[in-house]
Amino acid sequence: LSDIAVLLLAAGESNRFGLGVKKQWLWIGEEPLWLSVARKFRGWGFERITIAVPERELPFFRRYSEFPVVQGGATREETVRKALLQMEKSPHLLISDVARPCLSRELVERILLHRDEAPCVAPAITPPDTVVYQNETVDRSQVLLVQTPQLCHTETLKRALEEGRGFTDESSAIRALGERVLYVKGERGALKLTFAEDLRWLDCLTPPSQRGRSGYGFDVHPFTPDRPLYLCGLEIPHSHGLAGHSDADVALHALIDGLLGAAGFGDIGELFPDNDPRYKGISSVQLLKETLSLLTSCGFRVEQVDMTIMAERPKLKEFKLPMEERLSELLSLERGKINLKATTTEGLGFVGREEGIAATALVTLRYFDWSRR
Ligand code: MG
Repeated sequence: LSDIAVLLLAAGESNRFGLGVKKQWLWIGEEPLWLSVARKFRGWGFERITIAVPERELPFFRRYSEFPVVQGGATREETVRKALLQMEKSPHLLISDVARPCLSRELVERILLHRDEAPCVAPAITPPDTVVYQNETVDRSQVLLVQTPQLCHTETLKRALEEGRGFTDESSAIRALGERVLYVKGERGALKLTFAEDLRWLDCLTPPSQRGRSGYGFDVHPFTPDRPLYLCGLEIPHSHGLAGHSDADVALHALIDGLLGAAGFGDIGELFPDNDPRYKGISSVQLLKETLSLLTSCGFRVEQVDMTIMAERPKLKEFKLPMEERLSELLSLERGKINLKATTTEGLGFVGREEGIAATALVTLRYFDWSRR
């Protein structure tokens, strides 16, 4: 298999999926779907496996992947074209959607068996249902539903993609070039996960782990006059606010770091660099919202939050409840799963000298349970 490079496509936006979670980020046991599929191909003996991913998620894929990860494009065609430029050269390329997690080894072997018979070998099935096209019932035995993986001569595929005509798979591009496509028997098991209801058919997969993931966050900001003080997304009356690139809501920053830590996604500075003018003076509520939407799309759910704010002044006792309520609203989490503590440091250290405020957060995440749908 050394002359076959595998390209797994995970750069899609899951627009038809409709669950807020991207299908490549459904969790299978304790690994994301895309990683589980890549490991499956490796288990079948493929040594050169590359994964094409969305630009925005590149750092998160890199954190989880032992396989090379390349940046995809806005369409499938663009993704393959860009990936080819970034991958090591290889005579054959086997391209598959990560969203076909249940495809069998037999299917892959069937494709490989015919590797030298055409510049593109693709699995296909005939539709089980009656097919009507433009108000006429057509002979369904003449209709093919083309699946992946598709095995392509790399050079032919490169030529086929040059024109950029928006093909939805590689076999179409190669056929349009006038080259032969050999269709081999596909399988119902190679279903492409497209709509939320398809989750019902994924019984080849292990449900997500029920284990919680914890993350810890810590942050400090110094006081500065003439700036409002924000904590947990609320303005707190005080003579000083906090200095920082954003609105310096130290509590939300600790929370965001706790969230990212639990997901294994790095830290707030990597996601929202403090030299990026887009984030100058930005409300940390906005940063929290972006973090949550990222975690949601990658298959995580917030389960519990426990925070401590350390401040000598202002006294926070009377604001604890409103801050918890605000957190509950921002996290869409029941009040009982949020706990906020406030403490002084008994006059000791920078907090005690009223030079600034520190905050910590402990976060528990769970995987979105797709198996219960
Ligand atoms: Mg900060």
